[in-house]
Amino acid sequence: MAIIIGPGCIGCGACVVECPTEALELADGVVVVDPEKCTECGDCIEVCPSDVLSLPAGAKKEEPTEEEAPAEETTNAPKPKKKEKIVPVAGGDVWSGVWVVAEYSRGEVAPVSWELLGEGKKLADDIGCELACVIVGHDVEGVIPEAFAYGAEKVYVVDDPILKDFRTEPYAVAVTDLIRKYQPEILLMGATAMGRDVFPVIATKMKTGLTADCTVLSIDPKTNLLLQTRPAFGGNIMATIMCRKERPQMATVRPRVMAMPERIEGRTGEIVREELNMTEDEVLTKVIEFIKGDAKSIFLDKAEILVAVGLGVGSKRNLALCEELAETIGATICGTRGAVEAGWMTHDRQVGQTGVTVRPKLYIAIGISGAIQHLVGMETSDYIIAINNDPEAPIFEVANYGIVGDLVDVVPALTAEFNKRLQHGVAK
Ligand SMILES: Cc1cc2nc3c(=O)[nH]c(=O)nc-3n(C[C@H](O)[C@H](O)[C@H](O)COP(=O)(O)OP(=O)(O)OC[C@H]3O[C@@H](n4cnc5c(N)ncnc54)[C@H](O)[C@@H]3O)c2cc1C
Repeated sequence: MAIIIGPGCIGCGACVVECPTEALELADGVVVVDPEKCTECGDCIEVCPSDVLSLPAGAKKEEPTEEEAPAEETTNAPKPKKKEKIVPVAGGDVWSGVWVVAEYSRGEVAPVSWELLGEGKKLADDIGCELACVIVGHDVEGVIPEAFAYGAEKVYVVDDPILKDFRTEPYAVAVTDLIRKYQPEILLMGATAMGRDVFPVIATKMKTGLTADCTVLSIDPKTNLLLQTRPAFGGNIMATIMCRKERPQMATVRPRVMAMPERIEGRTGEIVREELNMTEDEVLTKVIEFIKGDAKSIFLDKAEILVAVGLGVGSKRNLALCEELAETIGATICGTRGAVEAGWMTHDRQVGQTGVTVRPKLYIAIGISGAIQHLVGMETSDYIIAINNDPEAPIFEVANYGIVGDLVDVVPALTAEFNKRLQHGVAK
């Protein structure tokens, strides 16, 4: 005898995660049971959002032991509400597909949206589902081919004059209506100002979970659930978070954390157009004027070569040696939080968890220990050269080339060698 699985399984994997004896697994998108392992404890029934699991006739759900049993109620406190279950809102009962919500503004899409299409493709391939891009805005026609070129198989479009300038309410309504109608299982967006604003609103409307600022995304092969990894507790640990029961599973990722996928001109796919179910009168926020900022800190994530300095530099005199190296090879100078706190540079040059995420072709780390909060902002650089007098410094674990030595000796020697080669015609 084993648990009975009725029709209508949505393959969410919640029961697989819950089962204490590993008797359940997903096969072809639905749950199957191994009768040898099933103890009919009934834990899976509690978590099933579609109510498709039941005990065989005659089997009794395990009662909690004395320690587990809740104490007799002695107060008049209201009983806790039964947990809300996923109720598919429209159409079928299958949540399927990976969606990337593009950040579209005034004719342009933020590059992080295309980076996420690259990452989304890997997730969709692992699950065996479709990859789609959502474009919400006004006059968006010009960017639809770009979404296909960067890998979308389908593009959902909501184009309305109300969406000309980003405002949280209509944007959230547009995306939430699409989710309710087409039921994607995973929703991704850049952890930009727009993503950080609208995604929590969408997650709240859908009563689902959201993991912000992920640095790694993958699929759990056992449950097909999204594994969302991000720094936690001040960056001291990397936490992997799962949204087991609710749909869609939602995550944001900072720009430049994921690699830009190859752009293939001429790729096409299906376009699904939907109306915005909102009038201007219903939008509380009014845009009076649009003033384009100069986005000072953007320059770091665009730089191809960065010379980064840490507290090990020790003094402004030594900092000048690093600046000279940067000048020689055409690099931009940046640093750790330590370097910023020492007053050697402004915060917009700080790389890391509370600074900018960078992905240059070359990152030269000078006098930097390699704290996790710094590494999360630069470890995906193409090449990392670390200069440090401590051979045990963690920065060497992510470096492609490590130079153990005193920066006062190493940096001027490097600058002199680069100067020599540049004079002999080697391009920067
Ligand atoms: C919530 C939170 C958020 C944070 N956010 C960030 C962030 O965004 N970015 C960030 O960078 N940090 C951040 N930090 C701080 C982080 O934890 C580290 O303290 C910081 O990155 C260390 O900076 P550092 O490598 O410059 O200094 P240190 O850790 O002091 O390292 C100095 C290194 O220089 C080497 N050194 C010393 N002298 C020489 C020499 N003469 N020649 C060669 N090498 C030498 C030493 O061996 C050492 O490895 C954050 C911390 C917290 C708690």
